[in-house]
Amino acid sequence: VTILGIETSCDETSAAVIRGGKEILSNVISSQIEIHKRFGGVVPEVASRRHVENVNGVVDEALKQAGVTLDDIDAIGVTYGPGLVGALLVGVAWAKALSYAKGIPLIGVQHIAGHIYANFLSGGGEPPLIALVVSGGHTEIVYMPAHGVFEFLGRTRDDAAGEAYDKVARAMGLDYPGGPQIDRMAQSGNPEAFQFPRAWIDDESMDFSFSGLKSAVLNALHNAEQRGEEVNKEDVAASFQAAVVDVLVEKTVRAVKQTGVQNVVVAGGVAANKGLRARLTERAAKEGFGVHFPTLDLCTDNAAMIAAAAFPMYEYGRFHDLDLNAIASLSLTKWKDTPTI
Ligand code: ATP
Ligand code: MG
Ligand code: FE
Repeated sequence: VTILGIETSCDETSAAVIRGGKEILSNVISSQIEIHKRFGGVVPEVASRRHVENVNGVVDEALKQAGVTLDDIDAIGVTYGPGLVGALLVGVAWAKALSYAKGIPLIGVQHIAGHIYANFLSGGGEPPLIALVVSGGHTEIVYMPAHGVFEFLGRTRDDAAGEAYDKVARAMGLDYPGGPQIDRMAQSGNPEAFQFPRAWIDDESMDFSFSGLKSAVLNALHNAEQRGEEVNKEDVAASFQAAVVDVLVEKTVRAVKQTGVQNVVVAGGVAANKGLRARLTERAAKEGFGVHFPTLDLCTDNAAMIAAAAFPMYEYGRFHDLDLNAIASLSLTKWKDTPTI
């Protein structure tokens, strides 16, 4: 089974060809980061226009690199939410046009399901599993008893982890997106230089809150500025990262203990974080559960993960009609009946 994936939910125009759900034949990503950098974030209207300009070339390039034509494609998987509606519409419209013109089955994919499925492209285990989702717009712990079944154990009550990274980075005068730079700076800073708050919420909760942490970091930067002092930015980055990682690791361990599920996958842009990768791997070894991270290039937005998520839907026969529409706030919901286990 050969699936063409298309992803345009935010600022990456991407197309990929995946065989058998796991083998990446191509994964072309055209990033708009350089364009959005000067605005300090993604400008929706600019993003949509760039997707319109790029989508044809990116899809052609993905087919070419894979050495296939549309006649070899068994299904088209496309992100239809969540994301910027104008950006999503470009991918959805393109996928529908190809589907209609060539008679290729269409599969709408939820973007966060795609981030989770990035794990299966690099040897991540099969369900049942716990997914720690840490992306630019989402932070949640999901129990996945089987393909297509998702149950929320916890979620952020305010900012997403990636959003907190980007906001703190911006306050430190770093370019968008700041997550990777904070991660780099944190490697040479002292994580105990600042005592930033950890929001445990309560002993059992698997919910998150990062807005208090973000405010504490902004206050520390502001207070230093008021006193005319130079803060050590590496120390701020390291102390902030330690606070984020402490909570992410601890709540994931809670999820493992409360469910008894021994297999964890990490999903979304923050899965690329060196601190999180090191600390969660270490803790999992100590507690005796398995943890898997996507390869670095598959942590942030890409179409390979969308095609990978479309694969079990193809096998299950979950297709969409040409009335598929982009849904900006589409949530991660199950598409398959819960198996009795
Ligand atoms: P969503 O998937 O929730 O719709 P998104 O697609 O905008 O949001 P992602 O694809 O998850 O976001 O990835 C982008 C986010 O990941 C940004 O917030 C970025 O700062 C963060 N990020 C990327 N690399 C790192 C890193 N090494 N450390 C921390 N954060 C990182
Ligand atoms: Mg992006
Ligand atoms: Fe994403």
